[in-house]
Amino acid sequence: MLEQARQYLKQYFGYDSFRSGQEAIIQSVLNGTNTAGIMPTGGGKSLCYQIPALIFPAVTLVISPLISLMKDQVDTLLQNGIPAAFLNSSLSAQEADKRMGDAKKGAYKLLYIAPERLENRFFLESLKELDISLVAIDEAHCISQWGHDFRPSYLKIQALVDRLPSKPVILGLTATATTAVQHDICRSLGISGDDVVSTGFSRDNLFFSVVKGTNKSTYLKNYLARNNNESGIIYAATRKEVDSLYTLLTKKGIKAGRYHAGMNETDRSMQQDAFLQDDLAVMVATNAFGMGIDKSNVRFVIHYQTPKNMESYYQEAGRAGRDGLQSECILLYSPQDLQIQRFLIDQSDSPESRKEQELKKLNLMKDFCHTEGCLQAFILKYFGQADADDCGHCENCLDERASHDVTVEAQMVLSCIVRMGERFGKTLVSQVLAGSKNKKIEDFGFQKMTTYGIMRQQSAKSIADFIDFLTAREYIEMSGGQFPVLKITQEGKNVLIGKENVLRRETITIQAMVEDDTL
Ligand code: ADP
Repeated sequence: MLEQARQYLKQYFGYDSFRSGQEAIIQSVLNGTNTAGIMPTGGGKSLCYQIPALIFPAVTLVISPLISLMKDQVDTLLQNGIPAAFLNSSLSAQEADKRMGDAKKGAYKLLYIAPERLENRFFLESLKELDISLVAIDEAHCISQWGHDFRPSYLKIQALVDRLPSKPVILGLTATATTAVQHDICRSLGISGDDVVSTGFSRDNLFFSVVKGTNKSTYLKNYLARNNNESGIIYAATRKEVDSLYTLLTKKGIKAGRYHAGMNETDRSMQQDAFLQDDLAVMVATNAFGMGIDKSNVRFVIHYQTPKNMESYYQEAGRAGRDGLQSECILLYSPQDLQIQRFLIDQSDSPESRKEQELKKLNLMKDFCHTEGCLQAFILKYFGQADADDCGHCENCLDERASHDVTVEAQMVLSCIVRMGERFGKTLVSQVLAGSKNKKIEDFGFQKMTTYGIMRQQSAKSIADFIDFLTAREYIEMSGGQFPVLKITQEGKNVLIGKENVLRRETITIQAMVEDDTL
């Protein structure tokens, strides 16, 4: 049967050989084994069910959450001479009935459905009359509550399968699954742990970096000037931020589009199409953008704010370089982003256990931002690949700067914050440490403190940068909204009492990046 699979690969899709993982998944499915396939974005998951669909006698049901992608996929299949159709909410009831009738007559090899259909009892009943060989579940991580994209209707899949008179083979596919999520997929879909085929998550053409302590808008403008007209996505955390970045960039003459859930559907799809057709170089968007976008030449993905967890981050960053060419994934980190995410988690209606889980995930996101080890390896380990090697080309792997022990300087800053009563912000603390003279310092009598001027060989600005570094490393936390005050964390206390050392790499690259704000 594998011979036939190879023949169809060439005949229908024009490819000579299978990619890593495809053959093992197809072989397993053709053997009639329920299987889970884990492959990175762009790895070629679709063929894993499209080829068995051609070989199996009856229809393959594909459950996919991406309505926009469904139409594209079906169009491509039809162009390749493979009979296929989709059923989703974009169709009239008559059209849906007609397609279902045709499916029962054996008109299609593949039938794509949206998971929401499974909520409909009548639909489930009518599926009983359909002879189904294979049920393929795309984005299978949506079945798990521990995933970042849980869809309750995915929980109905098992009930659907149980009701079917024929016993179809089940194939769950995803590009993102921690060990816990893999476990959930297997349990919910009746797949044995031995039948998980994973090619790992590594994307060797992606170059990861985390940029800290820089002026984000300056960085962005400089980056776009250097990468003129390359296609890229900039993710921002809020609609407001998307709007203001969009205004900033278009004013600078950059061909940018924008996309968020606050815009009407016509606007959104116009912007999306213009981006897909390369009429717009850059898309500024919230995380509402990207599900089901298959644009191969995205050269960079910049996160203007830190996302809420590693799954979201990797899925969004992974939209770069689907064509296999070198592409950059840059995260612009600031500690305030994490505070916003913490606030959002805290204010949500989720049960306490869920909130705790989300905070844990956020903390791991923070660790990613702070790691001085390989960024790609960090991601792979997060997704359960314990033996991941260093990629050798992310920002941290390429970083040859020496680390210096800055524990004494850190203690100076921390003790100054404590002496000032943990009631003041970064600017005043830096001025006191630099020994600046101003009325506010005199009014509070800070010039009499022992830490006054203790770092006077540095400018207040470079001390403020150092405070940002200490904040990024969570020795200091900023509390309060508009005028945040600096407070010492437990880790900061450990540094103060000499229980923990602080190492810092030289900061040459960051300085170089902010040199030009004249764009
Ligand atoms: P995924 O769903 O895993 O993100 P797709 O199924 O959309 O990825 O495949 C990504 C791209 O790779 C598509 O353009 C597809 O045609 C191509 N592709 C898939 N399998 C092969 C193969 N064996 N040889 C060459 N190209 C392939």
